[in-house]
Amino acid sequence: MDLRFGQHGEMTRFVVEMTRKPAYQIFTLNNPYRVVIDMPEMEWGAANGKATGVVKGFRHGLFRPGVTRIVVDASKPVNIEKHFVLGSSDNKTYRLVVDLKPISASQFASSTRKVESADWKNVAQEETKTVVIPAPDGQQSADATRPAKPMIVLDAGHGGPDPGAIGGAGTREKNVTLAVAKAVQKQLLATGRYRVKLTRDRDFYIPLRKRYRVAEDNNAELFVSLHADKIERSSVRGASVYTLSERSSDKEAAKLAAKENKSDIIVGVDLSGYDEVVARTLLDFEQRATMEMSWHFAEMLVGEMGKEIKLLRNTHRFAGFAVLKSPTVPSVLIELGYLSNRQDEKLLKSPAQHKKIAKSLQKAIDNYFERQERLSKS
Ligand SMILES: [Zn+2]
Repeated sequence: MDLRFGQHGEMTRFVVEMTRKPAYQIFTLNNPYRVVIDMPEMEWGAANGKATGVVKGFRHGLFRPGVTRIVVDASKPVNIEKHFVLGSSDNKTYRLVVDLKPISASQFASSTRKVESADWKNVAQEETKTVVIPAPDGQQSADATRPAKPMIVLDAGHGGPDPGAIGGAGTREKNVTLAVAKAVQKQLLATGRYRVKLTRDRDFYIPLRKRYRVAEDNNAELFVSLHADKIERSSVRGASVYTLSERSSDKEAAKLAAKENKSDIIVGVDLSGYDEVVARTLLDFEQRATMEMSWHFAEMLVGEMGKEIKLLRNTHRFAGFAVLKSPTVPSVLIELGYLSNRQDEKLLKSPAQHKKIAKSLQKAIDNYFERQERLSKS
């Protein structure tokens, strides 16, 4: 119902008002300094308060089905000094109150970084369940002796507390990517040749490495991550396709990858347990073969997309996108256009454009599997 910040001496108080008593967990992160508040999934009717005190900014959204997350950007290290829930006398409204106190960086290192209400464990138990979206009916091959149809995983970029780029007319990247993912899914299923899974089918967030893990866990043969970002020059428009490479093809691609790789930071994913993935060497044999297949698919995509929609010059580019790092599933990232360009923004909202994109993807995917078949026979 309401979300506000207030300053009391050196303390910054943060209040969320709700119609039900919430379970919650709160934790702090550094690089950059953030405070993350998780509560059970809720509908958001809040008139958002203004950032003040140590709070520089904040955002909220579904972190995963079942959990609503608020991410607060702090200007300096803070300690969670107090946290409690107050009920009104008629039990119709509840307030979660959190007091944040600035501390030194060395105090931050030894401070209690995580607190939770006694009933949070009921919500957290759900966390161990992986996000697997069931395939719509009719996707399984009826005849079990026939090999299964190829599985394609479509990833709608961003989501939940991470809106992605926001266009001049207010279009949010996370909504464009979801609409296009659904259009492509429909197009592919209509051919009867593929099975299709979306990493998300509504507005929530998924950590970057979990996105390609959905592809790995489902033995996918292709992973396509959909985006529609912004670029500084608003005159630039057109779609582009990206594949993984240790070296970037150009400065813009490197910048884009760096920005995309920050999604997990924007939504407050605790990355401290993930070092082993970062350290994984890129160039083992399996990864090399996968990268080559990704490259072929990207080239086919550029060819087919060029027949339907406007492309950016040097359409196929390379950079170190975290979401493309599956060693086993060929993966591409498509920038469907730029939300910083007025014409592109208008098109990206149009179902007719989504249909064109979906058609070109389907043709490229058809070409890709025809090539696979030819190669396996020769
Ligand atoms: Zn994006």
